[in-house]
Amino acid sequence: MTITLYNTATRRKEAFEPLDPENVRMYVCGPTVYDRAHLGNARPVLVFDVLYRLLRHTYGADHVTYVRNFTDVDDKINATALARKEAGAPGTIEELVRERSDETIGWYHADMDALGTLRPNAEPRATEYIDQMVAMISQLIADDFAYENDGHVLFRVRKYAEYGALSGRSVDDMIAGARVEVAPYKEDPMDFVLWKPSTDELPGWNSPWGRGRPGWHIECSAMAHDLLGAEFDIHGGGNDLQFPHHENEIAQSRCAGHGFAKVWMHNEMLQVEGKKMSKSLGNFFTVRDLLEKGVPGEVIRFVMLSTHYRKPMDWTEKKRAEAEKTLMGWLNTLQKHGFSSKMVERLRDMDRWNGDPEFMGALGNDLNTPGALARLHVLSKAHTAEGLAPMAHALDTLGLVSDWDLLDLSPSQNDEMEDWIVVAIDRLLEERSSARAEKNWAEADRLRDVLNVIGVQVTDIGGSATWLPGPDFDPSKLEALL
Ligand code: AMP
Ligand code: ZN
Repeated sequence: MTITLYNTATRRKEAFEPLDPENVRMYVCGPTVYDRAHLGNARPVLVFDVLYRLLRHTYGADHVTYVRNFTDVDDKINATALARKEAGAPGTIEELVRERSDETIGWYHADMDALGTLRPNAEPRATEYIDQMVAMISQLIADDFAYENDGHVLFRVRKYAEYGALSGRSVDDMIAGARVEVAPYKEDPMDFVLWKPSTDELPGWNSPWGRGRPGWHIECSAMAHDLLGAEFDIHGGGNDLQFPHHENEIAQSRCAGHGFAKVWMHNEMLQVEGKKMSKSLGNFFTVRDLLEKGVPGEVIRFVMLSTHYRKPMDWTEKKRAEAEKTLMGWLNTLQKHGFSSKMVERLRDMDRWNGDPEFMGALGNDLNTPGALARLHVLSKAHTAEGLAPMAHALDTLGLVSDWDLLDLSPSQNDEMEDWIVVAIDRLLEERSSARAEKNWAEADRLRDVLNVIGVQVTDIGGSATWLPGPDFDPSKLEALL
């Protein structure tokens, strides 16, 4: 299957070709952990979760490495820690900062888990990669791409000729746009901070430039390098990070001799009345607010995936209600046909089955999740468990069912099934596949009849076969056959 992805760096959709199909590597900028995630923060998490699932599906679950960081060097975290210290909380400022970060990371995990997102393979914290940052900054200074002044280390933006290429801006436009801060320790107003001094009462680390702390941009460059290598496949984040954060990441990493990311992907913003949802505008509500109001995580996920990731979107009550109705309808249909985790696992394990081609085609086309959901509407019209299997697979691929077992009506039909039954049916199915491969149609038909008598429904898709217990499934008949 071909996956095409829109690459912000080239402004084109490109066929995705991993550097190493055995280890497809993706880095996504994660949250600054000073407070609960708002709904906007959940958008990149969901978008890149769908991409992660698609990559795992395509290259194998063990052949994808997804890294998403936690930014735990931050003024707002420090402020909370300091306030707690002043209020008499025990521990050093570093310990109190750690405590605050642990607390918000715990909330983040709980909220994102509730949305059905898979945890990345690594979730590095900036504070655990200070040595790597110091090493990278030292190298940039040695190669003249950075300079120290008054305890600050700055990156010389004009030394990197391609600066601005990602977001399509020239350095002079950026200065004219006055999005840069003039400061006495800067040679040029465009230069950005790699390291800055820390005050005595705030967290700091020893470095060749005195006690201080890293700038935000160097964190991602150093962590991505350490965990994914000098060159990797995909770098993602919200489009609010394109400039300056991603431009700066690119400049630092390229000047340090790293190839860095090949494909850059950016999700558009979740909006409220046409404005980006953000803490600073105060127009936000948290994921937890919604969950506590009783909106299931799957419904939040469904609404988010109904809009393509490169389009701005609004959260509306109407969308919530429609998504809830559709999803509940689909789950009811599956419930009627007795789908369960074990059955879905079997569908998932069939490596030769790539799912419904139209559904997978939509996902592979730059994550066209609205198209994939439209296809699900069609797939949900089937009337048998066999016919619904592609839909169950599709829902699973989108992560829209967190617990298939909750769908179970009758335990006799599904996971309560004893292992020997599963083994015996699997073996019958294998024998049937071998017979078919040898063009021994008589034997293949005989085995199919045997399976029918037991009440097993066989699904043949793309040269592979799987099975589901049908409504008349009766394992005692299987016992009689053995
Ligand atoms: P932050 O904690 O603000 O650094 O943001 C964490 C992630 O959420 C980044 O990838 C941001 O681009 C993303 N993000 C922040 N606000 C929004 C929003 N309103 N819509 C979509 N993504 C957002
Ligand atoms: Zn980043």
